[in-house]
Amino acid sequence: MAMTSPQRFAFDALGDALGASSGLLSCATAASRINVLMDQAFEYIGKDGAGIACRAGCSFCCHLRVMVYPHEAIALFRHLTSRMAEEEADGVRRRLVANAARIGELSREGRVATGLACAFLVEGKCSAYEVRPASCSGYHSLSKQQCEAAYDNATGAPDRIPVLQALRYVAGEFDAGMDQALQVAGLSGTRVELQTAVAALIRNPALIQRWRSGRDLLKNHQGTPKGMT
Ligand code: SF4
Repeated sequence: MAMTSPQRFAFDALGDALGASSGLLSCATAASRINVLMDQAFEYIGKDGAGIACRAGCSFCCHLRVMVYPHEAIALFRHLTSRMAEEEADGVRRRLVANAARIGELSREGRVATGLACAFLVEGKCSAYEVRPASCSGYHSLSKQQCEAAYDNATGAPDRIPVLQALRYVAGEFDAGMDQALQVAGLSGTRVELQTAVAALIRNPALIQRWRSGRDLLKNHQGTPKGMT
């Protein structure tokens, strides 16, 4: 079946970045290219007239569980280890390890509703903005009130938060394009939970080589739904 235009854009962006090399820099390039595509889609769909509630400094959604592609986890790891100031990186590293340990103690259901702040959240802002995962760049709420309610109650029911459907559609198509690009490159597209994955990479950077050889990034990790849940 022919690809849709958004699928083709994402397929080409990832294919160009990861086709020749699946190293750390290529993963970061892939993540930032998808962010650029997502930002363009956001502009095109019309952020001004769309009733988007997201504002700088609002970070309720950074307390949801975030599922990421392996190359996105590697891009975040690279950002942490080579792009952040040492002091800030130390704090992020500590929070990642603590969050991953906390998540590891929870049941599968409990992991949806942890209410844990993402370790990359620093003073209300994403400290890895240029390589934030597509799940983050493609998430735009239409109701701050619902985001706040989900956060306050730790209900883990982000499905009640209204989002911009047109952008959700495009994000889904980008995912489909990325899935196909990863498949063509012989790389696993099994999504992993953000905190767990980056903490695992801190403990064992050799996991990157494991993924580059065509296996899942994490051992014994059950792939779970895409996006923010
Ligand atoms: S990576 Fe950035 S945008 Fe995504 S949840 Fe973490 S702090 Fe928020």
